[in-house]
Parts: sequence; C-alpha cells; structure tokens
Amino acid sequence: MLNIVLFGPPGAGKGTQAEKLIVHYGLKHISTGDVFRFNIKNGTDLGKLAKSYMDKGELVPDAVTIDMLAAEVDRTPDVKGFIFDGFPRTSVQADALDRLLEKKGMSIGMMVALDVADDELKLRLKGRAETSGRADDADPEVIANRIAVYKEQTAPVADFYARQGKLRLIDGIGEIDTIFSRICEAIDKG
Ligand code: AMP
Repeated sequence: MLNIVLFGPPGAGKGTQAEKLIVHYGLKHISTGDVFRFNIKNGTDLGKLAKSYMDKGELVPDAVTIDMLAAEVDRTPDVKGFIFDGFPRTSVQADALDRLLEKKGMSIGMMVALDVADDELKLRLKGRAETSGRADDADPEVIANRIAVYKEQTAPVADFYARQGKLRLIDGIGEIDTIFSRICEAIDKG
C-alpha cells in the first residue's frame, strides 16, 4: 500500500502531477478541492457551505473537510493506495488523517512537497484562470489570500511529516515531465 500526500502552495502543480502519478502507480486520487467543486456544481448543502469559504480563499472548516475526506476514503476500498491532494491543509487535518488511516491498518508513506516561489505561483494561477473557470483563480485578491492562508495554516503541516521522517521536498520549477521524474525518483527511493 502506497499512500502519498501531495503538498504545495496553490498553483504548485499538484493536480497536474497527481494525474500522472495515479496512472504510473495505479493509485486513487482524492482532491478535497475537486470534491468541494463537485458539490458546488450539484448544489448540495456541503457545496453551498464550501463555496462561502472558497470564494474568499479561506479554508473550509476542519470538521466538515475531515468528515468528507473520511467518506471518500471509505467509498474506495481495495485500492493500491491513495494520493491525497489538497489534504491535509491544517495540523488538525494531518492528525485526523493519521488516526483515520491507523484505524484501517494503513499509514502515510511520504509527503511529496512541491517547492515553487511566490512570483511563479501568481503567474501560473493567472494563466490557469483563463482555462480553469475557477472563480478563486480569477481574482488577484483571492489568490493573494490563498497564498497567505497557505503560509499561515498549511505550511506547518510539512513539519508534521518532517518529524516523522516522511517529507520529500521536490523542486517544482521546470517542465512537467522533469518534475514528474523528480517525484518518481523520490517515491521509488522510499
Ligand atoms: P484546491 O483545489 O486544492 O486549490 O482547493 C480550493 C479551495 O477549496 C481552497 O482554497 C479551500 O477553500 C478549499 N479546500 C480544499 N481542500 C481543503 C482542505 N483540505 N481544507 C480546507 N479547505 C479546503
């Protein structure tokens, strides 16, 4: 079983790399952002709640996000492993994920953290806004808030995995395939 946390600031390329990793390693991809957007599209209560936070670039409350993540994991038994993308985003979520997996006799193998400088992130998100249709990519103020929230609340999650010897920092600048090779090398090394 190979369970990976794919980590990095908004615009670091997590979604792009996750798509390649699930094919290469046969893993199940869980993106909490994608699940929220699916709920928004379908007009569910969860979607309505999530939207009120996402539109401002704030995090959806931990309790809601953790319950949703647990339901997604339960929905897919018999997989080779999971790629968690956009989760955990707080220390409370990281703790909850460890406990959730432990109950199932599983654990996180490693955190793959994509390292990309702020200026590059802003450029990438601006470019992505033209095709993603995401409201939170289109507004520079919301983008700036997402990066600030990342630094304050999410970046410390890397320390949580570093303490467990599970953090692998990957240079996230370069061609998509070059970055993918760097990630695979880190995963294959274990
Ligand atoms: P993403 O698609 O990962 O960029 O997430 C888009 C937005 O969804 C974030 O800015 C948050 O508002 C919300 N979101 C996604 N994942 C989480 C999470 N693990 N905890 C709280 N909010 C989240």
